[in-house]
Amino acid sequence: MKFSPTAWAKLIYLRDAGPTEVGGFGISSADDLLYVEELVLLPQICTAVTVSFAEDAIADYFDQQIDRGLKPEQFARIWIHTHPGESPEPSPTDLDTMETSFGECDWAVMFILAREGKRYAELRWNRMQHSRMRIKTSIDYQQPFAGTDYAAWQEEYDENVVDQSQKWTDLMEPDELWEYGDLFDNPHSILEFNA
Ligand SMILES: [Zn+2]
Repeated sequence: MKFSPTAWAKLIYLRDAGPTEVGGFGISSADDLLYVEELVLLPQICTAVTVSFAEDAIADYFDQQIDRGLKPEQFARIWIHTHPGESPEPSPTDLDTMETSFGECDWAVMFILAREGKRYAELRWNRMQHSRMRIKTSIDYQQPFAGTDYAAWQEEYDENVVDQSQKWTDLMEPDELWEYGDLFDNPHSILEFNA
């Protein structure tokens, strides 16, 4: 799997734009579905350990991309999210999401970029027989690429990402916070609590 340098720079920018996880989809080249040309954020409610896409966000995203003339295999197979901690390993919830959200697709990729730069990429293959495999990722500097656009990326971040971590921690007593503190090291484990 490859990223265009611009998509990669945008992912790093968005990862570091706030304290929470952020998530979105990679948009692939029509000629190479494992070449991520673009990264798009969806409206989402985030904490340091969770990302939940807003209601209707996925349907709206599909409509927008189909209007651009893209096919689902180009815009809805590569799920990308960040981990604010140093581990890029998928959480149990990440694995469940792959199963429930992408189980019907011929194939899908889960890509995770952690704060320290470590990455995890898994290709899930559902055709004929089900299989999962780790795949390598690289950034492709051999093709022409666009530059950075921090203003536009920040705007996309501001429009789409709602940081809910402050809200739920505000609701807790200090001793409860202490009790839940170690969950920060365990991505997604508070998803149900948060819901
Ligand atoms: Zn995750």
